Amino acid sequence: MPKVITAREAEELFRKGEQPPAGSILTPSARDVFGGGSLKSSFKGTGAPAGGSSSAKSFVEPSTPDYEFKWAPGTDPKTPAEIERFFNSPAIQVLKERICDMGRRLWQKDYTDGNGGNITIRVGDNLALCTPTLICKGFMTPADMCLVDLDGKQLAGTRKRTSEAMTHFGIMKRQPAAKSCVHAHPPHATAFAIANVNIPSCLIPEAEVFLGKIGVAKYQTPGTPANADEVGEVGKIHQAVLMQNHGVICWGKDVEDAYWKMENIDSYCRTVWIAAGLGGGLHRFTGGQAKELIDLRQKLGMPDPRAGLKECELCDSADFRPGVVCSVPAKDAAPSEPADPQVEAIVAKITEQILKQLSAK
Ligand SMILES: [Zn+2]
Repeated sequence: MPKVITAREAEELFRKGEQPPAGSILTPSARDVFGGGSLKSSFKGTGAPAGGSSSAKSFVEPSTPDYEFKWAPGTDPKTPAEIERFFNSPAIQVLKERICDMGRRLWQKDYTDGNGGNITIRVGDNLALCTPTLICKGFMTPADMCLVDLDGKQLAGTRKRTSEAMTHFGIMKRQPAAKSCVHAHPPHATAFAIANVNIPSCLIPEAEVFLGKIGVAKYQTPGTPANADEVGEVGKIHQAVLMQNHGVICWGKDVEDAYWKMENIDSYCRTVWIAAGLGGGLHRFTGGQAKELIDLRQKLGMPDPRAGLKECELCDSADFRPGVVCSVPAKDAAPSEPADPQVEAIVAKITEQILKQLSAK
């Protein structure tokens, strides 16, 4: 009897860069996996080609991304031949190109200078792709990428891996949802990390939903195990982490998701910085309104260490606005000011859009 290959088995073969055994029969969905060289369910909705130069297309036409790399647990390639085949497989080639795309975007946005920044994507139980050391992120090619285990041992690639990859793995080992990390030195967010000023919250609804509470990792020498531990502990519960006197690291389900958070945090810090200089003070939404956004973030499956906090604790940023502290109003106190209808409308609109997207899935 010829062997019947299911879609799941076909995806596994495709991921390893292998073909179905001679004489086997493929189900229609399995045939789709190999059809035309396009990646199907492993890369839902991307339309990303399996090889060749996809950089320009994916850069010019970003769509709602879902580039999460899914592997079957316990199937990491082991022998040198398996590792080499995996490292050169079409599925990994697509990820290498996406790392190059994200590197170009980091560099174009002025988030990296010189050889600064680094990018990783987890591709197995104990495997990750990463950028090499001493390279400008704006001009990388897929051939520059490295394959390492989560202890930093290099398994494939001709260039030496970045030493800062260990910081990324500090997060990935503690937080399984972190499938990709992006580290850079975006000037506005890094300025907060240097000035030792906490980034205030409760100012822009999108930031509460997509960044969540921004973590702060204490300064440690870059590339050291102490730094990996410090950032790992903070990154376990924060998707965006300010690294004191250094920069920012963000994580997501895939590399585009992690990169977006880098844009989100620097844009947020830039806007807050400009707003703070206008002289009119900062209008903040209330702890109750913040709670609605945090609940929404949790529904989207993203962690937020503020989930259990009281409403009065949510919008306290005394560091940024000295004198603003959390206090519970007495029961007979006058009712608080009604919420700003403009902010209310923005929150309602964002909530509605996100719920619409969720229900469309
Ligand atoms: Zn750095």
